[in-house]
Amino acid sequence: MRRKFIVGNWKMHKGPADADTLAEALKRGLAGRDAAVDVGVAPPFLSLPAVVSRLKHTGIVVAGQNLHPEMQGAYTGEISGEMLRQAGVAYCLVGHSERRQLFGDTDALVEKRVHACFRAGLLPILCVGETLAEREAGKEVEVVTRQLASALGKLHADQIPSVTLAYEPVWAIGTGRTASPLQAQDMHATIRGWLESNFPAFVARSTRIQYGGSVKGSNAAELLRMPDIDGALVGGAALNAEEFLQIVAAAG
Ligand code: PEP
Repeated sequence: MRRKFIVGNWKMHKGPADADTLAEALKRGLAGRDAAVDVGVAPPFLSLPAVVSRLKHTGIVVAGQNLHPEMQGAYTGEISGEMLRQAGVAYCLVGHSERRQLFGDTDALVEKRVHACFRAGLLPILCVGETLAEREAGKEVEVVTRQLASALGKLHADQIPSVTLAYEPVWAIGTGRTASPLQAQDMHATIRGWLESNFPAFVARSTRIQYGGSVKGSNAAELLRMPDIDGALVGGAALNAEEFLQIVAAAG
């Protein structure tokens, strides 16, 4: 019942012209596919209008990479969920590890951003994951369940399946070091178990959990074959249309 969902996070790559070129390549590469897999891209803010326009009527959804907790106000340099919605964006990443590590996104701020998504009518893609030090200390489950409880704890059960969860072990992001399919499956099963213990049964059954961390065309199939891995959040490999299309094909 859970359709696979592959999302490319373009991070701070691809200005409007380059983003348009990449979006056009994805549009062409995915034209006429049987839409068994949901596909999305998260370009930088400035490139959103070009990408939204290029991908109109393709079924490829567009996500923001972040949003401010407030709808509007005196927050120089920030972008709100309402602005993203007006720009034709449907999803928004929240709590990506680069935000948590480099820009001070605390659990409390991540929770506010999740709620801001719902207020603006955006679907959150909530990233969780432990650092290498936390894994080596045997704390990965504690860290991930703490992040989940903080971000999702005050939502109504009916809202949870609208959230895409992305398990992204920080040690696997941009490092070329992927979690093994079994390591990833283990954590995904733990996350689903956490959903089961905290919400009615339909929530765990229907909430999608993506894996992220050095997913490529060559390792996507073995990860996506795992029963609790419902898709991928892809960084580096999403910047190359051919590689990203291979990942989408591996999900189908
Ligand atoms: C990411 O940034 O979400 C990510 C998973 O990056 P990469 O695929 O490059 O590890």
